[in-house]
Amino acid sequence: MDAARVKAKAIELGFDLCGIAPADSFPELTFLDEWLARGYAGEMAWMARNADRRADVRNVVRGARSVIVMGSIYNTESEYGDDPTQPFESPHHRTPTRAKIARYALGDDYHDVLESRLEALLAWMRAESSEPFEARAYVDTGPVQERVYAQYAGIGWIGKNTCLINAEHGSFLFLAEIITTLALDADTQALEQCGSCRRCLDACPTGALVDAGVLDSTRCISYLTIELRGSIPEEYRPAIGNHVYGCDICQDVCPHNQPGSVSSDAPWQARSGLDLPRLIDLWQRPDADLRKLLKGSAMTRAKLTGLRRNIAVAIGNSGDAEALAALQAKGDDQPSVADPMVAEHVQWARQALRSVHVRGCSDSSPVDAADDGPQLRQDGGPADRLHR
Ligand code: SF4
Ligand code: SF4
Repeated sequence: MDAARVKAKAIELGFDLCGIAPADSFPELTFLDEWLARGYAGEMAWMARNADRRADVRNVVRGARSVIVMGSIYNTESEYGDDPTQPFESPHHRTPTRAKIARYALGDDYHDVLESRLEALLAWMRAESSEPFEARAYVDTGPVQERVYAQYAGIGWIGKNTCLINAEHGSFLFLAEIITTLALDADTQALEQCGSCRRCLDACPTGALVDAGVLDSTRCISYLTIELRGSIPEEYRPAIGNHVYGCDICQDVCPHNQPGSVSSDAPWQARSGLDLPRLIDLWQRPDADLRKLLKGSAMTRAKLTGLRRNIAVAIGNSGDAEALAALQAKGDDQPSVADPMVAEHVQWARQALRSVHVRGCSDSSPVDAADDGPQLRQDGGPADRLHR
């Protein structure tokens, strides 16, 4: 099978990038064990369960010789990023009363979209190949260290923010791959282009990038708002700001995303209701309404209680007195609001908002500091630390 034809077909099917890596052992693959041993995977136990397979794609497809890696640009001209040529300090990035959702989750669930494109590519390859072959196709969920193979397929390099960065298009890329026993001509490895830059490490609000290219997931807002099922440690809640699902900060600050490419692909366009919605509006949606909003999007991974938890924390960080009133409404008829774990975060948020308004407002403050809630903190609440 001719590698150039495979790549041309991938582009025809809607992928933006396609490269081919040999199914070899690469030194970057060996760091996984140490990363797991350091506890950086947190509750993502599934990563340790299949670490052996993740160590080498030949443990996934016996006799694999090539990894075909596809990239899809998901950054759009949506309200979240407004004009991607605008600097990070754009007002849209600093709107504490609106919910920030990671760009990749604004549109349709990428698993569904990309899987169907991968299946179409694989079906075409089977029809075109003169020899039988084995292959497995994955979108994000397979036991594959896909960024390493993407680097060796020439798609981009793994930046200090741990994202795969394409020199022309930036890092807002979905990756998907086909591992196959076919021997295809491999591309040249992409060269690292971070240089002396450290913007992402300096910008991370939780210090999750503990070293260049080393992420402690347990401190990362993406992990805390998506993968973590229980309570978010209080020490990280202020730094979460208005992020209700994921975080793009270490990509937003990257010079290779300024400007990054944008996609007009329909599935990645922001769904109505997810493009910088007001936190209070999100919170006040009944459970059934929220489920409808998220159906078919990547945001279902956090579950409804997880999303409620995140919205409560973001409201606590918002300084919005109007939102405090909304949090004080009982909401017990909504199971996700009545959930004890969510209720604890609501309590935290109420306390944070009271702290801000008691210190920041005159006697005519709209917030009644003498209601039956918890005692006010005298040392400045979490929102104080966020907005200093
Ligand atoms: S996604 Fe956000 S919290 Fe996670 S490493 Fe990047 S900047 Fe830090
Ligand atoms: S911000 Fe700088 S150091 Fe971080 S990934 Fe981008 S280029 Fe590399």
